[in-house]
Amino acid sequence: MADLNVLTPLRIESMAYGGADTIIGAGRDRARRSGAKLAKRLDEETAVALVGVAGALAPELVPGDLIIASELRSTESTTSRHLPASPLLAAEFRRTGLDVRTGPLVTSPTYVQSGQRASLAASGALAVDMESSWIMDYLPNNPLAVIRSISDTTTTGPLRGGLRALASLSAARGPLQRWAHVCGEHEIILASPRSFCAGVERAIETVERALEQFGSPVYVRRQIVHNLHVVQGLERRGALFVEEVDDVPEGAVLVLAAHGVSPQVRSEATAREDLVVIDATCPLVSKVHAEARRFAAQDYDLILIGHADHEEVIGTFGEAPERIRIVSTVADVEGLDLDPTRSLAYLTQTTLAVDETTEIIDALRARFPQVVGPHSNDICYATQNRQDAVRSIAHRCDLMLVVGSANSSNTARLVEVAQREGCRAELIEDATQLELSWLMGARSIGITAGASVPEVLVQEVVSSLSSLGPAHLSEERIMQETTHFALPTRVR
Ligand code: SF4
Repeated sequence: MADLNVLTPLRIESMAYGGADTIIGAGRDRARRSGAKLAKRLDEETAVALVGVAGALAPELVPGDLIIASELRSTESTTSRHLPASPLLAAEFRRTGLDVRTGPLVTSPTYVQSGQRASLAASGALAVDMESSWIMDYLPNNPLAVIRSISDTTTTGPLRGGLRALASLSAARGPLQRWAHVCGEHEIILASPRSFCAGVERAIETVERALEQFGSPVYVRRQIVHNLHVVQGLERRGALFVEEVDDVPEGAVLVLAAHGVSPQVRSEATAREDLVVIDATCPLVSKVHAEARRFAAQDYDLILIGHADHEEVIGTFGEAPERIRIVSTVADVEGLDLDPTRSLAYLTQTTLAVDETTEIIDALRARFPQVVGPHSNDICYATQNRQDAVRSIAHRCDLMLVVGSANSSNTARLVEVAQREGCRAELIEDATQLELSWLMGARSIGITAGASVPEVLVQEVVSSLSSLGPAHLSEERIMQETTHFALPTRVR
């Protein structure tokens, strides 16, 4: 837990906040003088928050709106300073029911009249003040936060809007105290391997190449991989995600997603002679489909271990629906009612938890000694490696942050693996979902990411955590992945 030093430019802002630690004075020169004094007085672990009022640049802002600066710019410099704590703080405000905006804040040495604000607004900045950049220049290593309440807009002057601005400032007290509580020294341990696997890289590149070759739009049936950021990124480049083949217009290009599809869906697509169909199914999923077909052709009954509502399982099940029974727990195995004289084989979803799957296979073997299956299971190398990597660091972590989407099976399994190792674990889509309450008492924090998660999202989480104070970052690599899959012929 770090000490918190709250700064306000004016005494009236301090009173509105509920008592600042330091009143720095208004304007550039006073802010600089205060900054020089603070730099001598405060150690680098002290969390510093500047709280006060500001003028709106973004036209939708009204007096009383709260801004959390994500970046400090000044009208006198081309450089800026990022404040990576802003998503953490913003999330904390929102959890207390307060609507806040995060974005760049510009500092100007003089009051910016409403007529002059358009050019600053065009740069994407939300608001303008007269102290933040100047004073924070003196505190390069402290955990920093800047919270401003809008006092004036292009249509409302500071006298009319000022009271509403001041009334909002007291709301910053609780979130800032909780933020300071988690500031301090942290150990951050990155599990490796993490993030993209070969199947995901291949699927994303397939859509990118299709966009290059055929132009936009390129249609993709369902999410190409289970990650919101990947999907949104491809949408921005011209991909259109649809639910079914019927949703694809005549003459279009259609990509089938990495999780694979049932033979029925594949037939619907290939029967459409007007479509260019490109199959981005991961080769390791295709292998399980081939096993299902082979066993079914040899008159086996089949047990598919997996989650019945997952697209991969729906696709594999479609290979022999009359023969396949889906189980996801040991209890499901106990409930199976099968003819003991029939040949029986099992297959598994590629993205299951290794330990749990082994228990289910053991239960199957105990009840049906004749059951055969793949050499061990069909869990893919990427799922296995990411789980092993989490296992290798979990015992050293107070908290494991797992980056990925909730509908990603392999990501959800990473949370379970950490928990099975006795480590507290939280699933986050990205850094904006980090919660301060999770970090209370967590000095050693592990980070991993599912196979469909871009590494940049992990780095944003690292950056947010590093903004809390001195961070000792290390990576525990249990092995180097070298698997690579060739692209589908159509886009090579
Ligand atoms: S997680 Fe495994 S099965 Fe799924 S796309 Fe990646 S390599 Fe293929």
